[in-house]
Amino acid sequence: MKNTADVLVAGVGGCGASALYHLARDGHRVIGFDRFEPGHDRGSSHGETRVIRQAYFEHPDYVPLLRRAYGLWTELEDESQASLMDLCGLLMIGPPGGEILGGSRLAAERYGVPVEDITVAECAERFPAFSIPEGSDVLWEPSGGYLKVEDCVRCYAGLAQKHGATLNTGEFILSFQSTGAGVEVQTNRGKYSADRLVLTAGAWAPQLLPAVAEAANLHVTRKVLAWYPIQAALPAPTSTFFIERPHGSYYGFPCIDGKTVKLAEHSGGTPLDDPLALDRSLQTMDVHGPGKLIDDVFPSLSSSPVRHDVCMYTMSDDGHFVIDRDPENENVVFAAGFSGHGFKFMSAMGAVMAELAVDGQSTSEIEFLGLERFSNRQ
Ligand SMILES: Cc1cc2nc3c(=O)[nH]c(=O)nc-3n(C[C@H](O)[C@H](O)[C@H](O)COP(=O)(O)OP(=O)(O)OC[C@H]3O[C@@H](n4cnc5c(N)ncnc54)[C@H](O)[C@@H]3O)c2cc1C
Repeated sequence: MKNTADVLVAGVGGCGASALYHLARDGHRVIGFDRFEPGHDRGSSHGETRVIRQAYFEHPDYVPLLRRAYGLWTELEDESQASLMDLCGLLMIGPPGGEILGGSRLAAERYGVPVEDITVAECAERFPAFSIPEGSDVLWEPSGGYLKVEDCVRCYAGLAQKHGATLNTGEFILSFQSTGAGVEVQTNRGKYSADRLVLTAGAWAPQLLPAVAEAANLHVTRKVLAWYPIQAALPAPTSTFFIERPHGSYYGFPCIDGKTVKLAEHSGGTPLDDPLALDRSLQTMDVHGPGKLIDDVFPSLSSSPVRHDVCMYTMSDDGHFVIDRDPENENVVFAAGFSGHGFKFMSAMGAVMAELAVDGQSTSEIEFLGLERFSNRQ
């Protein structure tokens, strides 16, 4: 058993698999640990698809990172010879100055991301699956689309091993601490040492990084996604979509299987302490918001889902990612609090984590995601 490496990666999910790949590809000796197998459904990177988009309503500062991410997803497709990304476009619907349309227009304008205003009449012709609620505007981002989430994780984990990484599944870290020169890690199976530890534990980050969790108010919420059947002979969505309504914000995907549309609520979510105790059953309240959205917007969809999945958001206090060095362990860098919108970044975020671990800084602009911003939080 190998017990030493240049870098250890704890958590080989969305972010960790990409970090493992970038480290191994750049020639570093790296060992990854995960409680589960790559592409598993116990964390935050499952459910078949994730939206990818560039006119980023959450904050324009994410756009350069997104551009890096798009390039790296394409590289991953080339190297793995797998089809991982479908840029079928993104339709955004909401109040004109609302969070989604207002924020997307701002990011598009600042960074020159192509977007197109669509009139309601045009929408009926081009996107007949959508019935636009009164008072809503429509914006089209042709560069939007979706990623095949489990395939992305498996591709990164598989290629990382091809490039020489060791991946220990069924093994999880219990504790870690910086030593003078590096870091020591205790897992359920043994002790390891390395120069650096990259901590990418998703919903388990609050348990492993209590000081960070306290500073950034990291908290986990239960989120449900479900597949709603299409009623025969009516048009189904052919693009991804993000919709803001008075009762919540929602996103969804084109009809991929010819029978259903995956749709979920982005807002809301029930707080959760232990990710291993996640309730995976479908509750009536889980389909309440999506049902209202279907009534408002989708004449072709039935509001009774045929299947569902349950996942977790790890929220930060302000809904932005938290990427930094552990203030309590200088040889540990972490990525946490992806707040329900992180997957599209994971190709770039793995590269960023590899740079932080090896060089101590990233070539991407990530200062706005650091812990420092919470220093005045009460
Ligand atoms: C329902 C839902 C829909 C979403 N939709 C989108 C979307 O459309 N677009 C988008 O960009 N983002 C979306 N997101 C967010 C995105 O999926 C997440 O931000 C991202 O997948 C989180 O990746 P992660 O690496 O932090 O966590 P994970 O992928 O969960 O990885 C964490 C890994 O750490 C492992 N681990 C935990 N503790 C330990 C330990 N002690 N030792 C070893 N390993 C450990 C876990 O087993 C897990 O594999 C969505 C999230 C959810 C839940």
